[in-house]
Amino acid sequence: VKCIGILTSGGDAPGMNAAIRAVTRTCLNKGIKVYGVRLGYKGLHDGDFIEFDSHSTRNIINIGGTFLKSARFPEFKDPEVRKEAIEQMKKVGMEALVVIGGDGSYNGALKLTEMGINCIGIPGTIDNDIPDTDFTIGFDTALNTIVDALDKLRDTSSSHQRCTILEVMGRRCGDLAVHAGLACGAEMIVTSESGFDEAEIIETLKRSKASDKKHALVVITEHITDVHALAKRIEEATGFETRANVLGHMQRGGSPTARDRVLATRLGIKAVELLEEGKGGLCVSDVKGEIIGLPIEEVLSHKRKVNQGIYEDVLKLR
Ligand code: ADP
Repeated sequence: VKCIGILTSGGDAPGMNAAIRAVTRTCLNKGIKVYGVRLGYKGLHDGDFIEFDSHSTRNIINIGGTFLKSARFPEFKDPEVRKEAIEQMKKVGMEALVVIGGDGSYNGALKLTEMGINCIGIPGTIDNDIPDTDFTIGFDTALNTIVDALDKLRDTSSSHQRCTILEVMGRRCGDLAVHAGLACGAEMIVTSESGFDEAEIIETLKRSKASDKKHALVVITEHITDVHALAKRIEEATGFETRANVLGHMQRGGSPTARDRVLATRLGIKAVELLEEGKGGLCVSDVKGEIIGLPIEEVLSHKRKVNQGIYEDVLKLR
């Protein structure tokens, strides 16, 4: 392969820049031309390309977000639109593509591969919701942001003897909530995997209030329930003064942690190596610390495996 493009797509995640840097440097070291594609698949369609040299990705390894920008571009599901994108790629000689994003972005990469353009997906999402990889780029940074917030909430929660609820991101994946909850000693952790049992939450909080521990932290994944309404119901049922907080987009930002930078760098290198071997339709995964390529089609057909051990450990401390 002589010329590769790289883009970031879907939700942004800290560490995407480190992955862009690793892909770029690996390409340049191998004598492969590399283009940055701005604004995800939209930029691919519009021919919004920047040829990268060794200066292009300087001083970005520690910066959050994605300097190539990301966009949602549902039009890319249309085969005609993808054909137009391929025309743009051909104009500059771009033969293959690295796509950093979530499962939606993986779908686009698979479709392009089926049309003759080898693509490799890199898991970039704070939610950690991609099957067959232990971690995605951005998860660790977001987790640490949540831990920071929960530690601060604990200070005020315990001073006022309150119950504090924190809603965190994750879409359908409870990994952020369960890891943060364990790291911060939360009384209750509610995710789509643990299930939402309001009676159980209230029972646990009543027990907590009756003990000598006069405050409580509850961590809950987004899209499960209205946390402000839940706070009111908990207050009524338990007598615990209760406050709900939604952490929001702060979780997407910040300088990536060392773990995320290392993961992003290793995934980026592997993606280029696979393209160099003439492979496409694969995504790179971190499986027990080893970086491997797996077929996107297979990965997308799997349900993400829940780490049962961590949920069992949550119950052991209740
Ligand atoms: P994420 O990659 O974070 O899951 P999205 O689901 O929004 O985010 O997908 C990102 C982009 O990937 C979409 O805006 C679209 O351009 C492209 N995409 C998603 N699904 C498909 C699909 N089935 N076919 C082609 N492109 C897709």
